[in-house]
Amino acid sequence: MSYDPATKIHELSAFGEFGGVNPSITDSSTYTFLKSETMKELFESEIEGCFLYSRHWNPSNKYLSDAISALENSEASQITASGISAIACSILQICKQGDELISSRTIYGGTYALFKNILPRFGITVKFVDVTDLATVKSSISDNTKLIYCESISNPLLDISDLPALSELAHTHNMKLVVDNTFSPMLITPMNLGADVVIHSMTKFINGSSDCVAGSISSTKEFISTLSDVNDGMCMLLGPVLDSFRSASILKNIHTLHIRMQQHSKNALYIAEGLQSIGIKVMYPGLKNHPQYDLMTSMMNPKYGYSGILAMDVDKESVAEALMEKMQNANIGLLAVSLGYFKTLFSLPGNSTSSEISDEEQVEMGLSKGIIRISVGLDENIERTFEKMKECINAVGIKF
Ligand code: PLP
Repeated sequence: MSYDPATKIHELSAFGEFGGVNPSITDSSTYTFLKSETMKELFESEIEGCFLYSRHWNPSNKYLSDAISALENSEASQITASGISAIACSILQICKQGDELISSRTIYGGTYALFKNILPRFGITVKFVDVTDLATVKSSISDNTKLIYCESISNPLLDISDLPALSELAHTHNMKLVVDNTFSPMLITPMNLGADVVIHSMTKFINGSSDCVAGSISSTKEFISTLSDVNDGMCMLLGPVLDSFRSASILKNIHTLHIRMQQHSKNALYIAEGLQSIGIKVMYPGLKNHPQYDLMTSMMNPKYGYSGILAMDVDKESVAEALMEKMQNANIGLLAVSLGYFKTLFSLPGNSTSSEISDEEQVEMGLSKGIIRISVGLDENIERTFEKMKECINAVGIKF
């Protein structure tokens, strides 16, 4: 189902006091009530437009949550102080002691560590599987399995999750499909493909300026309101509330997300095709020889391309390290973790964002030490960038 998130976001209108074109920023942790009775009622259930305490909800986060719901075509959304807290709160809201979840094994290293090292402390078992192998996912389901977890486009290997098939499997067994859509805002709308909960690290593309850490959870009104329940809501009681000033700045940046995603995708495709043409192994779902090119194409909203992230494999760690340093010195981008910034960022996932995954497991999932993950920036002249990249590639001894 094709969806145009940009138009939905454009249709939102919220004004500040005195007609400010941006909503006013909430500078309060607590809110007054004219009647004591209303406060009592608010403790019992949500009252539209009525705020109690900023850890529970605040107006700035509410405006941003409306924009995220428009982006993800969800009934409601919750804003959190980081992507990882969005993941932790969602999982802990769904699973209790004795429950199991099935997770993709190619996921962000921090999520992997949370699942492997923290969830078992709460009596929650995680089975890591190759989610592109539906038969294995199916055979891993037990009576205690509560959810399937995956990333739409996986970090860092750019595998594509078959969201319609995974959601069908999940729903047949009365489970939820929880999807991290951090790599593909605008281009994939997981709710339209059957997801029940959609998570973002807004730290990345959504904010786009690498100046803060933030997250979001999108789902039904019912699920989102359980997260802020005063008695057992994970967001309310673990407390990862995003500061209003940050929330307000992300809200402004979200209005340019559609243009940025188009440019990130256009530039990444150019670099991916260029690298492939000089014989470098590249993983990018926009390449026709990517094993899941057709699947990715079938799941995408039109116009936004195949995302801004690619991975190139130069085989040896020492070559990859030398190449990244050369690219930084040539001003192609920055040797840094994270992604979705207006400048190109590159890092070696094996030694950084996936280092929580053991060496043996990295080998099993196909994550070699020579893989550089590149988040391609918004460069106006990507042809020039690629010429400079070729010089760097040459300089580290790769012949083409
Ligand atoms: N999900 C993905 C795919 C990520 O890449 C990251 C961080 O790199 C996270 C979640 C965690 O987000 P945050 O750093 O905002 O907590």
